[in-house]
Amino acid sequence: LTERTREIEEQRSKLPVFAEEQSIMETLRSNAVTIICGETGSGKTTQVPQFLYEAGFGDRDSPNPGLIGVTQPRRVAAVSMARRVGEELGRPLHVAHQVRYDAVVTRDTRIKFMTDGILLRELADDFLLTKYSAILLDEAHERNLNTDILIGMLSRAVRLRNRLACSQPEKTRPLRLVIMSATLNIDEFTAPRLFTPTPPIIRVDARQHPVTMHFSRKTPTDHVDAAYRMICKVHANLPPGGVLVFLTGKQEIVRLARRLAQRYNKRPINAWNEDDDDDGAEGPMETIEPIESEEDEKAQSDSDDSMGQFSMDAETREPLHVLPLYSLLAPEEQNKVFQLPPEGTRLCVLATNVAETSLTIPNIRYVVDCGLVKQRHFDATSGAQQYRVEWTSQASATQRAGRAGRVGPGHCYRLFSSAVFDQQFPPFSPPEIQRTPMESLVLQLKTMGIDHPERFPLPSAPPSGAVIAAQQSLLRMGALCAGDDFPRITLLGRKMAKLPIAPIWSRLLVMSWEMDEYPLLAAAFASVMSVGDPFLDDQSFDKDHTEQSQSHSHSPRTELAGKPPTSDLLMWLNALLQYLAIPTKNARNEYCSRFGLMGKRMEEMTQQFQLLKRLLKQNYPGVDCQELPKLGRSGQQHLRKLISQSLSERAAERIVNPKNVPGLKRMPFPAYRILGRAADDVSAVVYLHPTSVLRTMPPLLLVYTELITAPETRYIKYVTATES
Ligand code: ADP
Ligand code: MG
Repeated sequence: LTERTREIEEQRSKLPVFAEEQSIMETLRSNAVTIICGETGSGKTTQVPQFLYEAGFGDRDSPNPGLIGVTQPRRVAAVSMARRVGEELGRPLHVAHQVRYDAVVTRDTRIKFMTDGILLRELADDFLLTKYSAILLDEAHERNLNTDILIGMLSRAVRLRNRLACSQPEKTRPLRLVIMSATLNIDEFTAPRLFTPTPPIIRVDARQHPVTMHFSRKTPTDHVDAAYRMICKVHANLPPGGVLVFLTGKQEIVRLARRLAQRYNKRPINAWNEDDDDDGAEGPMETIEPIESEEDEKAQSDSDDSMGQFSMDAETREPLHVLPLYSLLAPEEQNKVFQLPPEGTRLCVLATNVAETSLTIPNIRYVVDCGLVKQRHFDATSGAQQYRVEWTSQASATQRAGRAGRVGPGHCYRLFSSAVFDQQFPPFSPPEIQRTPMESLVLQLKTMGIDHPERFPLPSAPPSGAVIAAQQSLLRMGALCAGDDFPRITLLGRKMAKLPIAPIWSRLLVMSWEMDEYPLLAAAFASVMSVGDPFLDDQSFDKDHTEQSQSHSHSPRTELAGKPPTSDLLMWLNALLQYLAIPTKNARNEYCSRFGLMGKRMEEMTQQFQLLKRLLKQNYPGVDCQELPKLGRSGQQHLRKLISQSLSERAAERIVNPKNVPGLKRMPFPAYRILGRAADDVSAVVYLHPTSVLRTMPPLLLVYTELITAPETRYIKYVTATES
C-alpha cells in the first residue's frame, strides 16, 4: 500500500506514537471523536494521518472514500507536514496542502493538510463536510480562535453526519474527528456541551531527556543582540549539537541571520531576502511586524548572562549553518531545517514560535529563548486588532526548553532573568477567544452561517448575556438586521467582518469606502484608532492632577489639535498625517520627541495604514491611494459625523447649569452628564479628562471612547465634539 523506504520505516518505528497505532485505530473506529495527547515530537502530525491512510481512509474504492483532512494553525506547518507525509509514504501525489494563496490539491489527493481558516471557510459552504471521511484537528492545545470555533462547528457536523450515516447508510458515510494536543490541558474539549458521550483520550508517552536551565542575570534591552552574543558563546564553547533560537518575527530573524552569516560564513547570504512583499504573518490573519530599531553593531559592555565564564572571542573555525524558519518562508527553505547540516558545521535555526510545538527540528541540544512572543491583541476601548510583542507564558517557555531534550540531555539559555520569569510570565496564555471582543466574535460567527451564536458550543464559552448584548449592538450598527427568527447578517456586516478591525471602526471604514468619501483619510483614521493614544504623558495623570493639567495647556500638542480643536481622536490623526509626510527616520524621531509622541506607536499606525491601504486598493481599485490624505475642514466634518454615529452609545451633554445637580462636585474640569441614563443617576455625572484638547473649549455635546473611574470621580477621555 505504501512505498516507504527502509530508512523511513526505521525512523518512524522509533516514534512513541508508532507503538499506539493499533489502539488509536481501534478507538477511532468505534468512536466518533477521539482525543490524542502526546509530547511534541512524538509523531502525532506525521504518523496519525498515515495510520488512517493505511486503513483505507481517503481511498475512493474503500468504505471511507472521503479525504483525510488535517488542520494546522500555521501555514508553514501545513505546507511542511504535507510534504513530509508524502515523502514518508513514498506517494507524494496522495498528500497535498491548501493554505491561503496556495493549494496543490488534485484528484489524487487522499490526505489534505490545511490551515484551520481554510476548513472554517469550507464548513460555511458545506456543513456536512461531505468531501471528508476524517478530520484531524492538530495543535488544539494552542487554543487559537479559529481552532476553538472549529471544535464547536465540528462537534455538530460530526453528530449530524453520523446521524445521517445511520439513517441512510448507502448515501452517507460517517465522519471521524481526531483532536490532537501537545499538552494534557484539554478539560474544555471534553465538556458535555461539546461532545456526548465524553470522547476517549489516548495518551502517548514520550521520553524526554533532562534540560538544564540557564537564566540571564539581567534581562537585556535588545533581545536580538543578546541572542547573537549567546549563539556565539554556545558555538565557541560547547560540544556539537544544533542550536534552536526562539525570536518573535521575520524581521528579527533575517537581521540576526545576516549578522551571524557575516561573522561565520564570510560570504553573502542571498537565499532569503527581506524585500519580498509578505508580512511575516504567523497566523491566518494579516500580521503587522513590530518595529525594530536600526541594527546596533556596537558591542555592549553590560555582559549579563550565566555564560559569563565563556569567552566570546574564542574564535571557532567551524562554520555555523544558519537557517531561518518563519511562516511564509519558501517551502524549499523551510525544508532545510530537517536536513543534516553540511559536514563539519553546526546547525543553528532561528525560528518563531512555530518551532515550539508545530515543527520538531531534529538534533537540537541547545535552545536560546528570548522569552517573547508576538500576540494578537484587541484594544479594550476600540476593539482594534493589533500585534504586540510580549512575554510568553511559563508553559510555553517550558515547551521551548523541552526542544533541547529530544536527542539527549540539553541546555536552555533564557535571555531573561528568573525573577522576570517568576513574576512577569503568566502561567498559561488564556485562550484567544477570551481575549477577543464579543462584537468581533459574534460578527465572525454570523458570517460563518451560525444563526444563534448565543447557543453555539465553544470550549470556554463566553457568557450568553455578553453574546446577546454584542448582537444588539451589531443590530444598531446595521451589521445585522432583524429576521423572523434570529438577526441576520447584512451586506455591510459581511464587508465589516473582512477588515482586521473592531466592528465599531470597520463600519466607519466601509461606509467611507462604499460612498467613496475620504476613503484614504478614513483608512488613516482607522489605523490611528487601532493603535490608540500615541502621546507619552497621559498615563501619569491620575497620580498628579495639577501639574499635568497645567503642563497640558502649554504643551506643543495643541498645535496638532487644529483651530478650534474639535476632537482628541482627530488630533491623533493629524499627528499621524504629519508624521507620514516626514521623509527621514531622524526627522521623524525629532518630531516625536518635540510633540511627546511614542515613536513605536507612530510606526504601528504607519504599518496599519499600509495594510488598510492595501485592502482598500484590492477592494476598490478605482480609488487613488498615491497621495497622502489631508485633514481639511470637510474631511474633518465627515469623520466627526461618522465618529458621532459610531460612538452614539457613549455620548454626553455638558452640564451648563450646575445648580441642583445631585452628585456634582466643585472640580476645575468641565462637567458632563452621560446621555441615556436616569435623571437621578449620580454615576452619570462625569468630568472631562484634563488631558483633552477640548478642555479649554468644552462643547455642549460630545462622544467619548473611554470612561475612567478614579477613586472619587469619573472622567470621560478621548472625546470628539458632536457634529450633527
Ligand atoms: P508531533 O506532531 O507529535 O509533534 P511530528 O509528527 O511533527 O510530531 O514529528 C515526528 C518526527 O518527525 C520528529 O522527529 C520530526 O523531527 C520528524 N520530522 C518531521 N518533519 C520532518 C521532515 N520534513 N524531515 C525529517 N524529519 C521530519
Ligand atoms: Mg505536531
